[in-house]
Amino acid sequence: MSEKIGVNAYIVGGYVRDKLLNLESNDIDITVEGDGIKFAFVLNEILDGTIEVHDKFGTAKIKTENFQVDIVSARKEYYDHSGMLPVVERGSLADDIKRRDFTINMLALDVKTNQIIDIYNGQNDIKNKLIRVVHDKSFVDDPTRIFRAIRYSGRLGFKIEQHTEYLLKESISNGDIFNVSADRIMNEIYLILSEKKPEQIVKLIKYYKIDKRLFCDVNINTTNLNTSPKKGDILLYRFLLFFYNAVKEDIDCLIKKYNFKREYLSGLSDIYNIKMNMSNLTDNISIYNTLKDKRIEAISAVYTMENLNIRRAIEKYYDIMELQKLEINGEDIKRLGLQPSPVYKQILDKILLDKVSGKIKDREDEIKSLLYYVEKIKRGEKI
Ligand code: ATP
Repeated sequence: MSEKIGVNAYIVGGYVRDKLLNLESNDIDITVEGDGIKFAFVLNEILDGTIEVHDKFGTAKIKTENFQVDIVSARKEYYDHSGMLPVVERGSLADDIKRRDFTINMLALDVKTNQIIDIYNGQNDIKNKLIRVVHDKSFVDDPTRIFRAIRYSGRLGFKIEQHTEYLLKESISNGDIFNVSADRIMNEIYLILSEKKPEQIVKLIKYYKIDKRLFCDVNINTTNLNTSPKKGDILLYRFLLFFYNAVKEDIDCLIKKYNFKREYLSGLSDIYNIKMNMSNLTDNISIYNTLKDKRIEAISAVYTMENLNIRRAIEKYYDIMELQKLEINGEDIKRLGLQPSPVYKQILDKILLDKVSGKIKDREDEIKSLLYYVEKIKRGEKI
């Protein structure tokens, strides 16, 4: 097919590496010498997937039921400044391979001949389980490669080759990583926390002492990071575990430095608030009051990190949420003549609290409480 349209096409990078390691991989990267987009359209006639094209970059993405295929026109990159994004130009396969990070990612498979092209001895490094850069300025050019090296090392159980490790340490002590934008740093952290088993990788971040200066001196947590929450978003949960030891001033500093998404910010402050009230988690009311508006990921993180007493309190909270549902709702309030407003939630919360504390039991009790609160509101009193 590549012959028919006059281009050379190669499967490159992670897919070839993982195939040689007998690991499953559903992401295929194809580099095309020539018109990558034309190649992508012809390939998609065979694959019958959905195609998305970026003319400006000469790239395309095909999604099928089982695979995602990224097609790029081969490119050459060079770096003007450390930590900045590279300048990109059209190039050959050799150029495209050369711009890549480590030898294990620099293998290509010629789709026409089924031959592996191995310019930098990547197959040897895969055999010997080594992460190796191919030039001494690699980490200076792009310090995010420090995180990438650590990520592959932790994921695959590979060692960072001696000279590469020397360069990596040198780049860390020269502070190259501090030229990288906050967003790119956090992107690397999210990639790490999205790994199947991030714990070993986070331990390496600490081992190479990258964490302190990047993260406001927070003592990054390296335990329980391979766990998942019962419910909720796994990345947010692991992010909260990662920063679990942050105290108030640390959180303020992190917020200033990084552009966290809203739910990540509220997760951090939820953890802080739960921790501040931890000694109060003794009876149903204080358990309910402490945990009721907190993100499930924050509650899960506390559950994972804390002792048996706290775990029991959280289990009680889960029971309360499961069992103690009100039998009345907003419709009942409306029937009593109050206009819908945030006061509805206030009233229902109050009644739920009465139920949690055991003051009321059934629907009849709930209606009685409801009448009581509605009358108060109508008289203009606070509830
Ligand atoms: P994964 O690493 O998650 O298994 P992958 O190997 O396909 O997937 P990606 O992060 O998707 O890795 O990147 C695709 C390829 O692009 C990599 O194999 C690597 O060679 C190259 N690459 C990605 N980021 C960089 C970088 N910062 N510097 C140099 N090369 C990079």
